[in-house]
Amino acid sequence: MIYLDNAATTQIEETAFGAMLPFLKGEYGNASAVYELARDSKRAVFNARKQCAQLIGAAPNEIFFTSGGTESDNWSLIGAYEAWKKKQGNGSAIPGSGRTPGGHIITTAIEHHAILRTAEYLESLGVSVTYLKPDVEGFISASQVLEAVREDTFLVSVMTANNEIGTIEPVCEIADAVHSVRKDILVHTDAVQAYGQICLDTFAEHVDLLSASSHKLGGPKGVGMLFIRDGIRFGPLLRGGMQESGRRAGTENVAGIAGFGAAAEASFAGIDAKIGRETELRDRLLAKICDITGVIINGPYEKCDFSKRLPGNISVCIKGIEGESALIMLDREGICASSGSACTSGAREPSHVLKAIGRADDEAKGSLRFTLSHHNTEEETDRAAAVLSEIVSKLRARNRF
Ligand code: PLP
Repeated sequence: MIYLDNAATTQIEETAFGAMLPFLKGEYGNASAVYELARDSKRAVFNARKQCAQLIGAAPNEIFFTSGGTESDNWSLIGAYEAWKKKQGNGSAIPGSGRTPGGHIITTAIEHHAILRTAEYLESLGVSVTYLKPDVEGFISASQVLEAVREDTFLVSVMTANNEIGTIEPVCEIADAVHSVRKDILVHTDAVQAYGQICLDTFAEHVDLLSASSHKLGGPKGVGMLFIRDGIRFGPLLRGGMQESGRRAGTENVAGIAGFGAAAEASFAGIDAKIGRETELRDRLLAKICDITGVIINGPYEKCDFSKRLPGNISVCIKGIEGESALIMLDREGICASSGSACTSGAREPSHVLKAIGRADDEAKGSLRFTLSHHNTEEETDRAAAVLSEIVSKLRARNRF
């Protein structure tokens, strides 16, 4: 099996697996309890908070564990809305002020559905939402964001890196630009695809809120975090117990959190080597895929370096084939890839991201995404390219009849 779908999820790192084991059996104490059995659980959560914080240059008390990226994204948008409403008193419009009762948020047309669906939910509550359109390589600029700011804007949410086409957005620049004109606007970034994959060590100085997820960097599934900058008034999404300083109720997933922390620690220590290795493999595979005729690269293509594109990401549209058919044939050869984000594969609609960067429906249908990890090898990428080339020939021959 050749696994080239690391943006969907990653294999668990040995260190993360090892860190989880004690808490799956013997060390079952509830981290909120006071007795000896709970002490190791509490310590593990404390340690993981430090490990996760260091990747973005945050303080441990600014990290709140959640059930994953989806919850962190929902919490960011809904939490920002509730905080804004509270500040407005009854939230009603001020006549002649240009302020809507629901306020305004700015996001992008290429966000993950965890953001887009939550933005739609806020729209149903009366919030006005601006969905910024990216350029042809998937970039959103700081000036675009500034132009969209209104008097009633309370949140800007721009993803750190796109899950389909790998574009790395200028998030710190955007955050600084927004804060230079309005300090009261919260800036959130969905860093699920970037956290542990690229260097984000100064992000806590720029953004107010940041979402990350454990299973994208070699940790277990079902655990994530939200960074909330110290001093920001931000209520809970889940109400109940007083876990996570009263901001996120629910008994802590200690094993998951310990695994997440260990995966974050491993990424932090080895980030340069990981980026270098993934870039090398990515460029090798991409060069071979580009030997196939009719290949269009999605996302940054002019400077295909890791400062503009996630190191392990390849997204292409191949003319004259259906991505879904190619995926099935790749699977028969033991190769796992994707035709867009995992959440939209299987859906017949072309990806909203490819549409937003201007791909025609026909082109978008032939989209394939290969996302590599440092565990992949040259033999794997070479075999994947050779198999893909044969599959494309077969599909094109079949489509001619
Ligand atoms: N945001 C982005 C950019 C993602 O790629 C994903 C998952 O693919 C999510 C959010 C959701 O994260 P999770 O699977 O942890 O809920």
